[in-house]
Amino acid sequence: MAKFPSKFISLSFFILILASSVTGGSETTTSPPQCGSGTARGCRNNSEALKLKIIAIAAILITSMIGVCLPMFSRAVPALQPDKDLFVLVKAFASGVILATGYMHVLPDSFDCLRSDCLPENPWKKFPFTTFVAMLSAVFTLMLDSYAMSYYRKRDLDSEVKRTSDGNAIVDGKLESQHCHGFNVVKADDNASQLLRYRVVAQVLELGIVVHSVVIGLSMGASDNPCTIRPLVAALCFHQLFEGMGLGGCILQAEYGVRMKAVMAFFFSATTPFGIALGIGLSNVYSDNSPTALIVVGLLNACSAGLLNYMALVDLLAADFMGPKLQNSMRLQTWGYTAVLLGAGGMALMAKWA
Ligand SMILES: [Zn+2]
Repeated sequence: MAKFPSKFISLSFFILILASSVTGGSETTTSPPQCGSGTARGCRNNSEALKLKIIAIAAILITSMIGVCLPMFSRAVPALQPDKDLFVLVKAFASGVILATGYMHVLPDSFDCLRSDCLPENPWKKFPFTTFVAMLSAVFTLMLDSYAMSYYRKRDLDSEVKRTSDGNAIVDGKLESQHCHGFNVVKADDNASQLLRYRVVAQVLELGIVVHSVVIGLSMGASDNPCTIRPLVAALCFHQLFEGMGLGGCILQAEYGVRMKAVMAFFFSATTPFGIALGIGLSNVYSDNSPTALIVVGLLNACSAGLLNYMALVDLLAADFMGPKLQNSMRLQTWGYTAVLLGAGGMALMAKWA
């Protein structure tokens, strides 16, 4: 059910970026002359850069797929079944990666964009727009989370009540069996809403990650400097491998069918290559430093930072660490935090490059 809207929203993100880049081309002349200088230093070679970008598309597509599929195939390993301790650690590692993506990649990118010298002093340097938008986005994510949950819970409960009252008419007056049945319904409803929660989390998370993936691809695709692209290819491969493992861990616990898993894995893997291809196609009109591109990318990044930070802390980390399984074992908690720090640390290191 949530499949269509998430696709739709991410599609509109692409269109926004596209629109910004096209209109941005004409506005580069109005930006201050000193801004964005120092990015192009001697090393310029269009054909060499294009060759590297095509290699990058293939390499990033493959490494993203490996990353996102790795946690999903863990179901085949007996030690990684959902009730095992090792599974909890894989999930904690994935949550750490998502947390670092929000704090170390997306939020600083938004600051860079919205505090750029290419934007007018007023209003962009008079007010902290990045944190303001991120804050609002966190509250909206909470709203989406709570409204969606209460809507589905109410709908499920309504249909369940209808079914039990139908059943009642047949048994007619057997109060005890009805009571017992009602208890089972509550138990089943709890499990179903937990699964539903995981599914909402996986969908919204994919949406939050997609923005960053497209933007890093876009700026690589628009560059014609082989000296900066060459090290970036390897860095982005690791970047997507890591981020894929983070997302894969969350898709895993949503317990989707094979088809839906494949769609989500492919959608994630295709975003950075798509961004690179888009950047190649628009390389003569798109500029990283055009005011429109800076504002649109900066605000999108701020939105997705708020979303990722909220989700990582509330829906992933707090949900697991405050849950009964980890609360019952201090030892497992300690290992869990080690896994969180490993995931977050690795992804934080990646922020040095992209
Ligand atoms: Zn990044």
